[in-house]
Amino acid sequence: MTDFKKIISHAKEYGFVFPSSEIYDGLSAVYDYGQNGVALKKNIRDYWWKAMVQLHHNIVGIDAAIFMHPTTWKASGHVDAFNDPLIDNKDSKKRYRADVLVEDYCAKIENKIEKEVNKAAKRFGEAFDPQQFKATNPRVVGYQEKIDGILKRLGKSLEAEDLADVKALIEELEIACPESGSRNWTDVKQFNLMFGTKLGASAESAMDLYLRPETAQGIFVNFLNVQKTGRMKIPFGIAQTGKAFRNEIVARQFIFRMREFEQMEMQFFVPPGSQKEWYEKWKQTRLQWHLSLGMGEENYRFHDHEKLAHYADAAADIEFKFPFGFKELEGIHSRTDFDLGSHEKYSGKKLQYFDPERNENYVPYVVETSIGLDRMFLATLSWALREEKLADGNSRTVLKLPAILAPTKVAVLPLVKKDGLPEMAQNIIDQLKWEHAVVYDEKDAVGRRYRRQDALGTPYCITVDHQSLEDQTVTLRDRDSMEQERIAVAELSSFLDAKLNPKHWLQKI
Ligand code: ATP
Repeated sequence: MTDFKKIISHAKEYGFVFPSSEIYDGLSAVYDYGQNGVALKKNIRDYWWKAMVQLHHNIVGIDAAIFMHPTTWKASGHVDAFNDPLIDNKDSKKRYRADVLVEDYCAKIENKIEKEVNKAAKRFGEAFDPQQFKATNPRVVGYQEKIDGILKRLGKSLEAEDLADVKALIEELEIACPESGSRNWTDVKQFNLMFGTKLGASAESAMDLYLRPETAQGIFVNFLNVQKTGRMKIPFGIAQTGKAFRNEIVARQFIFRMREFEQMEMQFFVPPGSQKEWYEKWKQTRLQWHLSLGMGEENYRFHDHEKLAHYADAAADIEFKFPFGFKELEGIHSRTDFDLGSHEKYSGKKLQYFDPERNENYVPYVVETSIGLDRMFLATLSWALREEKLADGNSRTVLKLPAILAPTKVAVLPLVKKDGLPEMAQNIIDQLKWEHAVVYDEKDAVGRRYRRQDALGTPYCITVDHQSLEDQTVTLRDRDSMEQERIAVAELSSFLDAKLNPKHWLQKI
């Protein structure tokens, strides 16, 4: 996988992601999407929306406002409990999330396990069984026990809000500040992640509001509106994509952890007692969505939560192998009846469903799937970016994006800028543009144009040459194999449909 710094600079150089307000030296952990980034982001969002809303007769979408009545956040528990434990290093003055320091320490031990496995794989060759090795090799078993012990203790002390023990753990593990190497830590404190703002013209009458830290609450407060007007029968889901805001303590990993980001969430309402079954089902369905994009099964894993949030009775992350290791990409949470129940209490309005099969009213249970759109963007970009050595000794930079997500699907290139070739290229664009994102490029030698499209992730290039004028055929070049074939202009549409129709991708879920 490509070095993280290269991914960030590639994202900027090719118009995917820019630092926010860069002419004023940027704003920490806030980013803007450029002309190619916005298309990749939209394609990811559309792929999610199609899979979740269009293909499920019992899931509908909404678009709730970012501002919500402030009591929403009292009811949801965010005012009291949406905290991260922070710790400062007294020497470097750097601030960290205490739990992340401990988790990073465990990730280092995990790297040691991986090294042992790789060494053994080389030694034993074909017959090597990594699972068996991990279960029996005494050194690896020892490492794993150490990780489990540490995470268990961390989970327990966070659960009990025993911040002194979190600090004690950091001290016992002799964790040093990555900046200064110093172990001179402050006490651990809780820090609320919500951004506050004011609504109203005069200081006296202004109302204190929060920018929403998750999109889910917009769904819960609209539960009855949607259920009644859509005549929805449980089980059913409500999906939403939109901005969320968190005043993250540490936001140093590009678009992995931002202060303003976009979520794609779906809340699935089920009868009490059936939540476990639905939770397992959604875990699998969401993993299948990821796998349908073809970014390698080995790059995903589930991580079951030790420490459950105040609203959950089960929770798991789908983790992805980012350039800095396996990290959360998506969360699947069994949220019980906590949210609807709590909004009932705070609003005094009934948020119940009459179940004709059970012949009773109840507050539905909820299973949530929640994925960060920007994090999915980073997963895709970091997986796709490759430096490839070619047979002729040269190398190329290629962005092997899943074709369905690529910002541009086809580049049409006239071999030269004369003799009617540009006109023919334009005609081809006019045929294809109704179905696909197509660009025209006539600048530089064709080899350089191929390289430019490789770096942008464009799966297909079509080159129009003099022969094209005579026999109505063009050269079609495949980004990944770099193979070129001659194809009739009349067949382009059906070729591209076979490769790029979302149906062929979504059917894999
Ligand atoms: P983390 O443990 O990484 O802070 P979280 O468990 O708080 O994440 P959730 O509240 O479950 O995250 O949010 C659901 C999804 O939203 C996450 O899986 C992630 O993809 C995304 N997300 C959360 N916080 C951020 C952020 N600051 N920047 C970008 N994406 C985020």
